[in-house]
Amino acid sequence: MTRKTVLIAGASRGIGLEFARQYAIQGWKVYAGVRTPAKATELLRVKGVEVLPLDVTSANSIAGAAWHADEDPLNLLIVCAGLYGPETTSFLAPGDADFDAVMRTNVLGPMRVIQAFADSVIGARGTIAVISSEMGSISGARGSKGLLYRASKAAVNMVAKCAANEYGPRGATVVTLHPGWVKTDMGGPNAEIEAYDSVVGMRGVLERVGPAENGGYFNYDGTPITW
Ligand code: NDP
Repeated sequence: MTRKTVLIAGASRGIGLEFARQYAIQGWKVYAGVRTPAKATELLRVKGVEVLPLDVTSANSIAGAAWHADEDPLNLLIVCAGLYGPETTSFLAPGDADFDAVMRTNVLGPMRVIQAFADSVIGARGTIAVISSEMGSISGARGSKGLLYRASKAAVNMVAKCAANEYGPRGATVVTLHPGWVKTDMGGPNAEIEAYDSVVGMRGVLERVGPAENGGYFNYDGTPITW
């Protein structure tokens, strides 16, 4: 059996780091994209992972990573990098700097990363997973907490859907995933699940999806989420 290859964009901490760990243990070839490799100390200790400089807010950095990983068709591309931005509990418009940082990371970043690696995924008839959030579900939204983050995740959901429309017919499967409320720097210590369990769940979903699920939006346990 040929060894499978995964590239994770945003693997220095939290859920992305856990994806790198688990796919390495499973024997996959793992490209772990991080914006500051020297600071990714935990990741650097994971055996069998190739750490790549990859800042999703930089077109040059994405092009460099795509060039580096070019020799391998990608069975799986996971776009995991994310930024919460300001915590707001009511309808408070963000300042320019917060808006730019969150939207560049959570929306423009995935657009560019998906575009840069799409041909490699199509070559392997592989899967692109966009780690979004149920906070991007418009039908599920209650209140206005985390306004900017929610808006960015609703936007990236559309990015994923458009990628599914574009690349699905060419052989890739594109799905949007909600990882659960996870104990990471972003999710905080009171979150419901460990990164380990979130990633075990999402790996299971990613193993099961194929062309019939192209364009789907799923919880980490495989339950469909309404847009
Ligand atoms: P963390 O805050 O723990 O980690 C965020 C990760 O994104 C870090 O590895 C960080 O790298 C990386 N990142 C941020 N900006 C960039 C960038 N410009 N280029 C490359 N990498 C970048 O978050 P989580 O692990 O919890 O979240 C991962 C994903 O899951 C996010 O998209 C998030 O929105 C989503 N999510 C998380 C939930 C949770 O409960 N935790 C719930 C729902 C969705 P660096 O170390 O360099 O900062």
